[in-house]
Amino acid sequence: MNVQYVTVLGATGSIGVNTLDVISRHPDRYRVFALCAHTQIEKLFEQCRMHTPRYAVVRDAELAEDLSRRCRCAGLATEVLHGVDALVAVASAPEVDSVMAAIVGAAGLAPTLAAARAGKRILLANKEVLVMAGQLFMEAVRQHGAQLLPVDSEHNAIFQALPADFSRGLGPCGVRRVLLTASGGPFRNAPQSALAHVTPEEACAHPNWVMGRKISVDSASMMNKGLEVIEAHWLFSCPAEAIQVVVHPQSVIHSLVEYIDGSVLAQLGNPDMRTPIAYALAWPERIDAGVSQLDLFQIARLDFQPPDFTRFPCLRLAYDVLAAGGTAPAILNAANEIAVAAFLERRLPFLGIPRLIEATLATVSVSSANRLDDVLAADASARRVAEAMISEMLVT
Ligand code: NAD
Ligand code: MG
Repeated sequence: MNVQYVTVLGATGSIGVNTLDVISRHPDRYRVFALCAHTQIEKLFEQCRMHTPRYAVVRDAELAEDLSRRCRCAGLATEVLHGVDALVAVASAPEVDSVMAAIVGAAGLAPTLAAARAGKRILLANKEVLVMAGQLFMEAVRQHGAQLLPVDSEHNAIFQALPADFSRGLGPCGVRRVLLTASGGPFRNAPQSALAHVTPEEACAHPNWVMGRKISVDSASMMNKGLEVIEAHWLFSCPAEAIQVVVHPQSVIHSLVEYIDGSVLAQLGNPDMRTPIAYALAWPERIDAGVSQLDLFQIARLDFQPPDFTRFPCLRLAYDVLAAGGTAPAILNAANEIAVAAFLERRLPFLGIPRLIEATLATVSVSSANRLDDVLAADASARRVAEAMISEMLVT
């Protein structure tokens, strides 16, 4: 068996750590080529000790010098680089087979796009890439023969439940619609009045998954499901009207595909990201992921509810921008990143998140998203507008 060289973008995050856990179970199959993080030097150093990558990448020269010194003292040959160009380089280097795209937010766009253009196998967790630049990214994947494997648990489930040749079109494959499950987050049953006062700590306490702070807030506002609707649209060429969100509080069914003959195929499993990570790493094979067996008797029941677009307006906004097309999803994504950061810093209340996104969408004009520059310009102006609205208290 050929050993696969893997670059992990976002190694110190929740997905990155789970990826390294799966990799460490299969030393005969995988070697780490590069580990990338933003600022968590200590954690990255420990990971370097454990996985001896050829490269490590951090945010800036100062952090790089710090990590480099630690590596030298520990007798590690890891070369430490810094900045976006270095992320791009280790995501597209000829020695690399697979790239785990697990940076959070728009910061992941450049290296993930570089991996696509270099024809890599991309394990995509960083859904914001597809929300911002879905058309461009999918074109790059096709043009350069990259292989795209969804890591987001819902999309991984759909990928597993679709026929292998789904890229010829869902209609021709007999697919009627996809059913995207959502846990409903920590505020699924909270009355509207209580949502006004929720804290970052409450928003980050997800009932079923342990995740990074940004995606945890997105889950609480249901923007995560909105981003995932857009992600599903691009991954599977699925029209918005054929994507049904289903609230399923147990997070055991990770999503479903409905066919025209009435069959509905689902993928089930414990809520543990190592399952979709292992699937994406080894596809089309299956490998041990260290995940405990699903105990149906213990679960006993599975519940389903329609989503509440009134209490969770972010979900509606995501369908709206998908219909609007062009740079509208990039504007929504940027405004959401600013809103979530402000909420986590207690500069914006929870209910201010959809208000800020809506106000930004009403201010920044939408253009076509055919070129990367269009997307980056929309992202930059949305961030500027959203930040200004927060500091001038135009949205509270
Ligand atoms: P996290 O916050 O735990 O980790 C983020 C990682 O990105 C860290 O390693 C951090 O160092 C790195 N990073 C942050 N900003 C960066 C920047 N500007 N430049 C370079 N690196 C940077 O996040 P996470 O929960 O692991 O999520 C990562 C991505 O995966 C997100 O897009 C999220 O939506 C997606 N995802 C996560 C889960 C999950 O269970 N955690 C599930 C599905 C999808
Ligand atoms: Mg998901």
